[in-house]
Amino acid sequence: MKAAVVTSFDQPLEIQEVPTPNPGHGEVLVKLETSGLCHTDIHAAHGDWPVKPQPPFIPGHEGVGIVDRLGKGVKGLSEGDRVAVPWLGWACGACELCASGWETLCPNARYTGYSVNGGFAEYVVAEAAFVGRVPDAIDPLDAAPLTCAGVTTYKAVKVSGARSSDLVAIFGIGGLGHLAVQYATIAGATVAAVDLMDAKLDVAKALGASYTVNSSLQDPVAELQALGGADVAIVLAASPRAYEQAFACLRPNGTLVGVGLPADNTMQLPIFETVLRGIKIVGSLVGTRVDLKETFELHADGRTEIVRETRSLDEVNESMAQVLHREIEGRLVFDLRS
Ligand code: NAD
Ligand code: ZN
Ligand code: ZN
Repeated sequence: MKAAVVTSFDQPLEIQEVPTPNPGHGEVLVKLETSGLCHTDIHAAHGDWPVKPQPPFIPGHEGVGIVDRLGKGVKGLSEGDRVAVPWLGWACGACELCASGWETLCPNARYTGYSVNGGFAEYVVAEAAFVGRVPDAIDPLDAAPLTCAGVTTYKAVKVSGARSSDLVAIFGIGGLGHLAVQYATIAGATVAAVDLMDAKLDVAKALGASYTVNSSLQDPVAELQALGGADVAIVLAASPRAYEQAFACLRPNGTLVGVGLPADNTMQLPIFETVLRGIKIVGSLVGTRVDLKETFELHADGRTEIVRETRSLDEVNESMAQVLHREIEGRLVFDLRS
């Protein structure tokens, strides 16, 4: 099969012919139709994070396609079903975190496109119990961004506790951010979108944001504090500076939700202001299988909209450069059907 392979952290990805994998016990082989490009795939390809993947590997954790073959012992899935292969490739089901509804934090988890091969390929092998069923009403080009950007921001809004009377500031209106604006709006909150690019802020406005701040031209802290401060700030930009601004734009008792994962792993956190203002800081990692199901249900019901541009997998390196240069509105999705 054809695949985009990371061979080294300092080289472009290579389009290679590699053996099509076989599904083992409990696994399925999925023939991919679409695959979203998450900024995480760029961090993976560059080895940006403290825990690194092992080259060679195939990135991609927004793969959507058709079950082509069942491994032994698979229940509840048939050949021909459309499924999504998310970041949470497998969790043990036996640890305290799994048993208490936090399978995303399972210490034994496998991550698609990071610790096991992912969806930048014609086929991927996935654990049958961890794929998401894609409702027929959803276009596979829309299902791909929902598989990480959607479920992650749906969950981030959930853990933020955002309510109808809240002002929610969203930092970074990219693949994740354009969906976060919509989930916060569905929760009934008033949304302020912050990005460095006017084109991204226009997307946020069209999707329901009441306020926009271009933080390359204006100080988002002053702008948000002039509105009374944000009850919640969700950081989806890969930038410590965005984290620091998001912290400072909160009102007392506010919540900072961290999602973006910059290579530069450190933010300045003033202790006095955190304590005296009763600030809560919480990290949020993707979402569970149930969160993914709910994310798909909302989209099938017409409650969310995907902004996307499509490319062929051959353009993987140019595509990553375009995301890094902030040139893509919404999500870039590889169409693997041609
Ligand atoms: P993206 O490149 O599509 O979007 C990032 C956006 O942030 C862009 O619109 C960019 O213009 C904006 N931005 C950059 N610097 C900024 C700044 N200083 N202030 C305001 N806006 C700024 O990326 P994405 O795919 O949406 O992913 C965003 C981050 O979230 C990445 O670090 C990714 O690894 C991470 N991520 C985390 C999880 C998780 O579960 N925690 C899941 C998926 C992605
Ligand atoms: Zn992702
Ligand atoms: Zn576990």
